[in-house]
Amino acid sequence: MPFEVPPLRYDYGALAPTIDEQTMRLHHDKHHQAYVDKLNEAVASDPSLQGRELTDILAKASSLPKVVRNNGGGHWNHSFFWDSMTPGGSQPNGRLADAIISRFGSLDAMQNEFNTAGVGQFGSGWVWLVGGSGGDLRIVATPNQDNPLMDVVDDGGTPILGNDVWEHAYYLTYNNRRADYLKAWWNVVDWGKADERFGAAR
Ligand code: MN
Repeated sequence: MPFEVPPLRYDYGALAPTIDEQTMRLHHDKHHQAYVDKLNEAVASDPSLQGRELTDILAKASSLPKVVRNNGGGHWNHSFFWDSMTPGGSQPNGRLADAIISRFGSLDAMQNEFNTAGVGQFGSGWVWLVGGSGGDLRIVATPNQDNPLMDVVDDGGTPILGNDVWEHAYYLTYNNRRADYLKAWWNVVDWGKADERFGAAR
């Protein structure tokens, strides 16, 4: 099979109490696996998708069957998400920290804008910090499993960080309190990884 759920770089319980172990197990082993299984089924029955990079497929999302857009997006987004977090979190540094202050005024201001966009995403979706080739930064929210790499997203670009605001990402610990989850999530963000992505986007 062409696509696989990548293993976590940390234990299932290592992000607690920000993200509880049961949520991580269900989210990684069941939800993400289901996107990968459905994506592989779709690719197996469509030779035009075979042998291509997932990012290349997703870039043309406007012409994809829904099943490929949703499950391909689901696979890419979750792989990116696991890799955006680290036990104990970290502090912003380097060029990205400077760019955030220059664009938003402060780290707090960026996080507030990000959290507000996450709360404001109606229904299921994602909220992103996106970088452009000029080193600019912006906050983008997307529905379902869409992401800023897709041509269907107006303010697309290179994802630097992304948080999953589907209920399955937070409901066991936070119930309906999506705003509390968004606020707490910063405690486990891997800023080193984010800075690496920002460097590559420029
Ligand atoms: Mn999810």
